[in-house]
Amino acid sequence: MDIESLKKEIIFYGQEIKRSGLVFGTWGNISARLDDKILITPSGIPYEKLKPEDLVICDLNCNVIEGNHPPSTELVVHSEIYKFRSDVKAIIHTHSIYASAIAVTRKNIPAIIEDMAMIIGGEVPCAKYAFPGTSELAENVLEVLESKNAVLLANHGAISLGRNLKEAFNVCQILEKSAKIYILATQIGMPKPLAIEEVEKMRDIYLNIYSKNEMIK
Ligand SMILES: [Zn+2]
Repeated sequence: MDIESLKKEIIFYGQEIKRSGLVFGTWGNISARLDDKILITPSGIPYEKLKPEDLVICDLNCNVIEGNHPPSTELVVHSEIYKFRSDVKAIIHTHSIYASAIAVTRKNIPAIIEDMAMIIGGEVPCAKYAFPGTSELAENVLEVLESKNAVLLANHGAISLGRNLKEAFNVCQILEKSAKIYILATQIGMPKPLAIEEVEKMRDIYLNIYSKNEMIK
């Protein structure tokens, strides 16, 4: 994919996360990786007003290569994830209600439901608290990330990853759905997590069958 198409795709998913209630106002941010470049949303511009030329292009060390605005304040978290995980090509940071509610308790979300196991890859860990936009926050995320596709940020929100923007957006939606189910289930009784072998089997089916034709283009 070329840079101009990727910019349009970032804007599309920016509007989608706003429309889906995964962010409010100008909070949250989206990036995509193209070779050794990161394209990221600028700081403080409403998603519905974003134009391709508003997006910021940086290198993997957070140096701005092109852009008319400052990049999102969470750029360092994005760049450290891209350096840590070569399979990740898109990152969406949201402040969705149910994921944030669990992040406030600083607990992980156990692997409780089928699509969560398939698309996220199992339990969603909660990274230790650090001030937003700091290298310390990036370090705390990497400490728990492993091969997962989502992480909660203590008292803040969540980060979802994907092999492309479409997949990262699916992760955001499944994460929020799983967080909601987990909270609702705790009202009825103690949720029972899926066995690790079951999670691994489901993840394998998703990676090797379901996502082969649809997600990766
Ligand atoms: Zn945030």
